[in-house]
Amino acid sequence: MADEFDGPVSPDHEPSAAAEQAARKGEDEAPVEIFDGVRGHDGNPILPVKLKEGDMFAFSCHKGISCWNECCHGADIVMTPGDMLRLSRHFGIRPIEFLDRYCYQAQWDKAGLPVAKLRMTGEDGSGPCQFVDDETGCTVYENRPVTCRYYPLGLAAIKMKGQETKDSFNFLVKESHCKGHDESKLLSVGQFRKEQGTDEYDQINSGWMDILMKAASWASTGGPYGKEISAKTQGMFYMVSTDIDAFRRFVLETRFLEIYQIDPETIKVLKTNDSVLLLLGFDWLKNVIYGEPTISMKESVLQEGIAKTRNELGAS
Ligand code: SF4
Ligand code: SF4
Repeated sequence: MADEFDGPVSPDHEPSAAAEQAARKGEDEAPVEIFDGVRGHDGNPILPVKLKEGDMFAFSCHKGISCWNECCHGADIVMTPGDMLRLSRHFGIRPIEFLDRYCYQAQWDKAGLPVAKLRMTGEDGSGPCQFVDDETGCTVYENRPVTCRYYPLGLAAIKMKGQETKDSFNFLVKESHCKGHDESKLLSVGQFRKEQGTDEYDQINSGWMDILMKAASWASTGGPYGKEISAKTQGMFYMVSTDIDAFRRFVLETRFLEIYQIDPETIKVLKTNDSVLLLLGFDWLKNVIYGEPTISMKESVLQEGIAKTRNELGAS
């Protein structure tokens, strides 16, 4: 068993948030901006406009436009788990190598959780993106990060009273350096999302977004059970989000499979499929952090836990 994973393999180390989860079921959650679409640092005020799927807006970005590549300087880009997989594949390396070479760790303050961001060049990070070419633009275009795909849209989500699932919506961000807004091409939010291929990413990032969203929404009361998410769990969240090979070792080389019910076919798939493993990772984290029933413990482990608790309480 790998020492590096002497960490949590069950939700025991986080106080279960199941009761809080149940108590909060009837509440609205605050809308949370997942990708804010703000990439420049020109200090200009930003005027977000909420848009529905069919709403139209004028925008076009093309080589020859006066601001070509301006948005790729000093950009603030959160790397989603889907971005990590796609871009590392693009370079033929594993996500941990991509992380080391091109990213840095930052805290997503809204949720108090760590995220990876794309490193910009220049001492203060205000230089061009490592992947931009003055002439041809983005050199990783077909695998560019979700924030770059969405721009100039942002993505936010909200869960309303009584709903089990979240509603996502987009908003338009107009930064003064971006001249794409002055172009005459009209398109709907739905058309833009299709052109940019964002749906595929939204699927793979969905569990990650749920966790960030709930953490941000609960932050006003200090987090699950009024407590900040522990440093250990924050570390696990960062590991699953950025280093899928470490999470694979965690699943296969610790007591994880002794504790959780995962069918043998799925275990076979997890050994080689990063995307499926990612889905498991975020289901597991939802259970660890929020007590959601997204993954089940084996009956024998549950019975052991109940017996241990009874013992500790002195029950016969
Ligand atoms: S990844 Fe591509 S689109 Fe995104 S900031 Fe870098 S060069 Fe620009
Ligand atoms: S139009 Fe906007 S998105 Fe396109 S290059 Fe200019 S600043 Fe970037």
